[in-house]
Amino acid sequence: MAAEPHVDLAEIEQARAAIADAVRLTPVMVSPSLSDRLGMPVHLKLEHGQITGSFKLRGATNAVAGLSADERRCGVVAVSTGNHGKGLAHAARAAGVRCIIALSRLVPQAKIDGIAAEGAEVRIIGRSQDEAQLEAARLVREEGMTMVPPFDHRAVIAGQGTLGLEILEQVPDLATVLVPLSGGGLISGVAAALRARRPGVRIVGLSMERGAAMHRCLAAGKPVQVEELETLADSLGGGIGLDNRLTFAMTRDLVDDVILVSEAEIARAIRHLYRQERQIVEGAGAVGVAALLAGKVASDGPVVAILSGGNIDMDQHLRLVSGDDLTGEAA
Ligand SMILES: *Cc1c(COP(=O)(O)O)cnc(C)c1O
Repeated sequence: MAAEPHVDLAEIEQARAAIADAVRLTPVMVSPSLSDRLGMPVHLKLEHGQITGSFKLRGATNAVAGLSADERRCGVVAVSTGNHGKGLAHAARAAGVRCIIALSRLVPQAKIDGIAAEGAEVRIIGRSQDEAQLEAARLVREEGMTMVPPFDHRAVIAGQGTLGLEILEQVPDLATVLVPLSGGGLISGVAAALRARRPGVRIVGLSMERGAAMHRCLAAGKPVQVEELETLADSLGGGIGLDNRLTFAMTRDLVDDVILVSEAEIARAIRHLYRQERQIVEGAGAVGVAALLAGKVASDGPVVAILSGGNIDMDQHLRLVSGDDLTGEAA
């Protein structure tokens, strides 16, 4: 595995300038109920209110901004559990670039519809991200399209890192940041920004117990294959890639801790966010709050939890907030 240097602060600052006109600066909000529980201020970074419903628009917009004229002509392709596809479709359309998204059949219909609505061509292939990946590789080979990966890519990581810069400006005294973690593009970018600007901040990744790929890889000391399972945090599904070049090393080197949450804890957090905070957040976006509610996070100062996305099937959300147990686990 050829190690690439970590994405650095200069790349993230450059990304911020490149995407400034295309993305929203999302607000932060103090949660009185979570602050009371923790005995420290808890701020929610409302990134589920980003255009396209997730932070993925940041990295995708930065990647499209970095295309050469030739690459723009042939278009972009991605494999996605949904939010990256939606973000890339939006970014590509805004730039007048063709976009094809390959998806596995595990992706919920709401996300497929969301991608199609952004104007991308959608291909549904296979039962895993890996199978969809083969189709995307074919498009790169045979049609000269540029692959924009969801996390293991410098421009994508730098784009996600702009969230770290925003959070520092919005909550200058933060002590701990809770970052949803799947392939690690988000946490790598956020950690690169924070470590450069505020080295003492504790950076914690949150994944679901069901298929926590990065957690397993960190324990193994290298990227390993992890089975993809159905979970309420569907945007956190999928592996990190056996040929991972950036996010494994960046997560290993820059992140302090990874905490896992159960399906019941995620369901409870989605309910809490709706009933107490009046926010509609998808499972992946709720894992930080899930860990807080479960008493799995301690902090000696203000906490920021990134609500990373809001693209949840609204029928599923309705059932969850009405108290139905969709997890098969005791809450
Ligand atoms: C993609 C995604 C994540 C995880 O981001 P990684 O860069 O893969 O770690 C978290 N939350 C939501 C809503 C996402 O779409």
